[in-house]
Amino acid sequence: MKRFIVSPKSQSWVKVAPDSHFPIQNLPFGVCLRDEEETSVAVAIGDQILLLLPLQEAGWIGQELGLLEDLTEISPEELSGLRKEIFDLLRDGNPKLRDNKGKRDECLFPLEDAFMVHPMHITAFVDFYSGIHHARNVGKMFRPDMPDLLPNYRWLPVAYNGRASSVVVSGTDIPRPQGQQKPAEGDPTFGPTRELDFELEVGFFIGTDTEMGDMIPVNEAEDAMMGVVLVNDWSARDVQRWEYQPLGPFLAKSFATSISPWMVTLDALEPYKVQGMTQDPAPLANLAQKDKGHYDIHLEVQIQTAKMTEPETICVSNAKHLYWSFAQQLAHQSSNGTPLESGDLYGSGTISGPEEGSYGSMLELTWRGTKPITLSNGETRTFLEDGDTLIMTGWAQGDGFRIGLGEVRSTVVAGR
Ligand code: MN
Repeated sequence: MKRFIVSPKSQSWVKVAPDSHFPIQNLPFGVCLRDEEETSVAVAIGDQILLLLPLQEAGWIGQELGLLEDLTEISPEELSGLRKEIFDLLRDGNPKLRDNKGKRDECLFPLEDAFMVHPMHITAFVDFYSGIHHARNVGKMFRPDMPDLLPNYRWLPVAYNGRASSVVVSGTDIPRPQGQQKPAEGDPTFGPTRELDFELEVGFFIGTDTEMGDMIPVNEAEDAMMGVVLVNDWSARDVQRWEYQPLGPFLAKSFATSISPWMVTLDALEPYKVQGMTQDPAPLANLAQKDKGHYDIHLEVQIQTAKMTEPETICVSNAKHLYWSFAQQLAHQSSNGTPLESGDLYGSGTISGPEEGSYGSMLELTWRGTKPITLSNGETRTFLEDGDTLIMTGWAQGDGFRIGLGEVRSTVVAGR
């Protein structure tokens, strides 16, 4: 698929600050709730949101597409074409929308006034485990007498099936889940988790349906993807530790997953592709990707407790630390011929870097609670407490601009 890359020199007539996540080189897609029930596909530009439905109704864009109320019926290739049309309307020097105050008032307004819903209707949520530094840390903590990676890790992208119904958009509070926990001594008990954690991840949506029996070849897998979002894969570690053997995580993960509202296209991220780390052993043929498949996306996690007035950074990492690429993940998912649906969301797995300070979960940052972190106001944390707000952000750094993923922000509240 030919990707539409906006020149680094291009500018928009909409003002964009240098540290904005949404310059004209980005143009990410989301879905905005306009009033009670009506939604419109939208694009972020600077600190503004551009609604696409009114532009389509006026015959300015997307005439060959379905009604631009959501992104379900649009293929990745059509999305790329639509982005090109929007670029043309927003580029410096094109007066068509710039000088039409009536139309502008109808479709362009501040992002802070927009209520964003899921960028796609989520049909399935799968979470991979492709952050190798995270996998190693977990191995060291939980299986100290064994090699840190299990034997399958470098042969296939390990994953589990999560729940689509509990994927929520940034801004949604997370009620502390209850579950069964097994103390070191004595019988299990049921109650609110005492080890609520976050996982820093990046996820991709697909925009392609496949039939049962179909496989997506690894070197065509990126053509099936709509774009990427930030993912916080909430985890209850005490519940997880007790329930996960032998079938993997179940209730410890499926209570909530938070995503950022803006889907950043692979077109926008194409200039930031990098070669991943060496894969040894060489992947089997169906997972062997010819071209670069990883992305240089700077990632940060911040916490703001109820007592803090400003958020504080607790993790700095990068998407390039993944062992398996998005394309390898999708090729693996489809390799048994299961039907895939437009709207499936795939989380990468926790993206920890190699050193302390780059770990993408409290589990690792506090080394299983043995090394509490001290915040600047003197508070300490092992896991998350009610009232804590967790913020994830990320961007690819261009020359004088950022291809940003925006943020995913959620506050932990007491369970019901
Ligand atoms: Mn995860």
